[in-house]
Amino acid sequence: MTITDPDAADASWLPIADARRTMLDAVRPVTGWESIPLSDALGRVLDRDVVAPFDVPAHDNCAMDGYALRAADLAPAGGTRLTVVGTALAGKAFSGSVGAGQAVRVMTGAVLPPGADLVVPQESTHAEGDTVEFPAGARVGQNVRRAGEDLARGQAALRAGRRIGPADLGLLASLGIAEVAVRRRIRVAIVSTGDEIASIGRALGPGEIYDSNRYTLTAALRRLDVELLDLGVVRDDPVALDHAFRNAAEAADAVITSGGVSVGEADFVKQLMTRLGAVHFWKIAIKPGRPMAFGRIGNAWLFGLPGNPVAVMVSFYQLVIDVLHRLAGVDPLPVRPLLTAPCVAPIRKGKGRTEFLRALLFDDGDGWKVKPGAQQGSGVLRSIAEANCFIVLPEDQGNVAAGEAVQVQLFDGLL
Ligand code: AMP
Ligand code: MG
Repeated sequence: MTITDPDAADASWLPIADARRTMLDAVRPVTGWESIPLSDALGRVLDRDVVAPFDVPAHDNCAMDGYALRAADLAPAGGTRLTVVGTALAGKAFSGSVGAGQAVRVMTGAVLPPGADLVVPQESTHAEGDTVEFPAGARVGQNVRRAGEDLARGQAALRAGRRIGPADLGLLASLGIAEVAVRRRIRVAIVSTGDEIASIGRALGPGEIYDSNRYTLTAALRRLDVELLDLGVVRDDPVALDHAFRNAAEAADAVITSGGVSVGEADFVKQLMTRLGAVHFWKIAIKPGRPMAFGRIGNAWLFGLPGNPVAVMVSFYQLVIDVLHRLAGVDPLPVRPLLTAPCVAPIRKGKGRTEFLRALLFDDGDGWKVKPGAQQGSGVLRSIAEANCFIVLPEDQGNVAAGEAVQVQLFDGLL
């Protein structure tokens, strides 16, 4: 299988890393915040560090069902017999303390009885009346969870900028925190442009196509927990576009448009952006997704994405998403691992652009391999729907031979 690149590389195309850096350097996090119940906090961004108000766990406690005792009592040869003087349950501590020659029966989660310094699991003991026999080989601290080993009092449990996930919710609950201070949600407006673009729900006229970009963008933005403003489809008409862009910029922190940034006659978006705001125009050295505008209209950041559906998704995930994270106050930005796998088919590639091919990572029983999809057209959404990863070919990479190792970025956790 071969992929041909009809475009020759051009030095005026901005490398993807430079585009990223320029955008990330320009954008500052929103400053508003609100205090919300923990149960509503999934996906929100912490506004400040959360400090543990007490040790977690609060007490030394038992990690196994068994007996708590003093290590010094155990004979090196084994066969030590101790007297059981009581029981400690989870939530019901033993009221006395463990003296020489004594043991306390304990359940998992029980506070470690004072005097004891280890727990011997039940299955390695032998009970007889009110005495129990213990083997040799136990060590101080064995099967004991120390107070503060999860979190020490005063330690930052979670840092400002963290997007709260399921484990974070559990951690905050374990600290008894019922309310958290989170950044306000960012407001993101989306607009589709083009005379040929129709909204679903009505029959297509001649030459029209349905608007898919608002659906992919809406879905992608939902995962970012933004306040979404869907401004629909705007025709390739300078007055309508001017009106729509001004409205979007007034209501939103960021405006994402699709279409109208290439060199076609009806591509007004570019001109309008230049007139309404401060715009860096980019021909980014990326494929698909080369034309993309970034700048400002009024107080809003503006991302002018290309119209082709695959180019929209690639430029959103590769360039826009981290800028939105930064705007939302996410810090540090999420890491996206790149794996390496042999590519089972050759790929034709010219140097000069970073290419994102839709591909399938699979295990053929002899290790992981990656296969580029047959259709790599920037309009073919099916190429993403049928893929599970991108093959990422850096700018200076040329043709890839069959069997050559390539970099792979998984969709999971990304799309
Ligand atoms: P443009 O950048 O406006 O020249 O659009 C490039 C290609 O993407 C054209 O084939 C458009 O019809 C298509 N396109 C633009 N916007 C959308 C959209 N919202 N949904 C699906 N295809 C689109
Ligand atoms: Mg268009």
